[in-house]
Amino acid sequence: MSTKTTSKSKTAAKQTKASPKQESYLEDEDLDLADQVLDDGYMDVMEDKTVVIFAVGGTIAMKARADGSRVPASSGEDLCAAVPGLKDLCNIEVVNFSNVQSSAVTPDMMLELSKKIQKTLERPEVSGVVVTHGTDTLEETAYFLSISLSDKFQQTAFKPIVLTGAMRGADAVGADGPANILASVRIACHDFNDDVARVMVCLNDQIHSAARVEKTHSANCATFQSPGWGPIGYVDEDMVYFRSGILSEDAGLNFPTPRKLTAKVALVKAVSGDKGEMVDYVVKSGYDGVVIEGFGRGNIPFPMMPSVRRAVKAGLTVVIATRTPAGRVLDCYGYPGSVTDTLEAGCIMAGETTAAKARLLLMYILSQKDAQLMKESEPERFRAYLQECFDLVLSRRLFG
Ligand code: ASP
Repeated sequence: MSTKTTSKSKTAAKQTKASPKQESYLEDEDLDLADQVLDDGYMDVMEDKTVVIFAVGGTIAMKARADGSRVPASSGEDLCAAVPGLKDLCNIEVVNFSNVQSSAVTPDMMLELSKKIQKTLERPEVSGVVVTHGTDTLEETAYFLSISLSDKFQQTAFKPIVLTGAMRGADAVGADGPANILASVRIACHDFNDDVARVMVCLNDQIHSAARVEKTHSANCATFQSPGWGPIGYVDEDMVYFRSGILSEDAGLNFPTPRKLTAKVALVKAVSGDKGEMVDYVVKSGYDGVVIEGFGRGNIPFPMMPSVRRAVKAGLTVVIATRTPAGRVLDCYGYPGSVTDTLEAGCIMAGETTAAKARLLLMYILSQKDAQLMKESEPERFRAYLQECFDLVLSRRLFG
């Protein structure tokens, strides 16, 4: 499924921020200062670093056919070749993992990608990884990578995984892919302290954490946002800035990575007047779990409750998420169909995790043998464990 090429940086020449024209306006002491800043900054050591780019596909690698419709066209090497100055930043390696639209990316592919990235990051010379990916499901892959970092990987030195993509095709006027790749590679060779979200998304020079980021616009280049939170940092020219204090909350959950994703988990969107038929269908179809995307605080129409109870009784794990882009699911109402009601029925709250991400987390956990055993022998303990998992994703490091 993948091919790999390596291209070593040809130049060890130090980059300076000042062009020859700008330099003529600087006094000697200004130049000394500029040199000193560069000597102290991360740019100086980037030449020794290797960043591995995993090309997965998406619009970033697409070109228009005669009828104007875009299809996959560019390899990872093509993507890199379109970024001026990329190879002068650090050593670049390319892994052509796949070349597909992101609606074709499956959780199994995410797991395979996660394993390959973890192996790559074990190499001491690799400072970070960039993943080029379709934007449609980019937030799901980013989230999956963030929850699937193995214990072993957690103990290694901090190495970022940066996902990026493009809203405009590789051959479009104003293609955003090259700038997004350049910014992402800058992050991947940045010297981090241990306090920054490990899996990040960078488009449009904004940096978002995998746990919070969402695609919010079907076409605009500023589509990736973290509703209710905001970006964790940004890239400005050749510098990378992070805001402190809110950075490390999604740095992995320390679950052992399952060998395979064996669990089937559905996502059902609650709608006004819902009577729960879709939930009943999920139960009949042999699923192990279901995420119900409710309204507001997670409330669902009360006529769904018999179906929810049937699902729990049938052994499905039922998680309640919210359709609002920001905010937490909470049992602050006491009427039928409220989260107080669904909790009493045996459901779990997704916290601030979106429904699509909650489905991946549930699939991931239910695919672990130990979790399955706990679910069968100690259902209440399993429920508490699962609730803690959802709470951890956004809150653990942030609030102690
Ligand atoms: N349809 C594309 C995809 O997700 C959208 C994009 O990459 O921007 O693959």
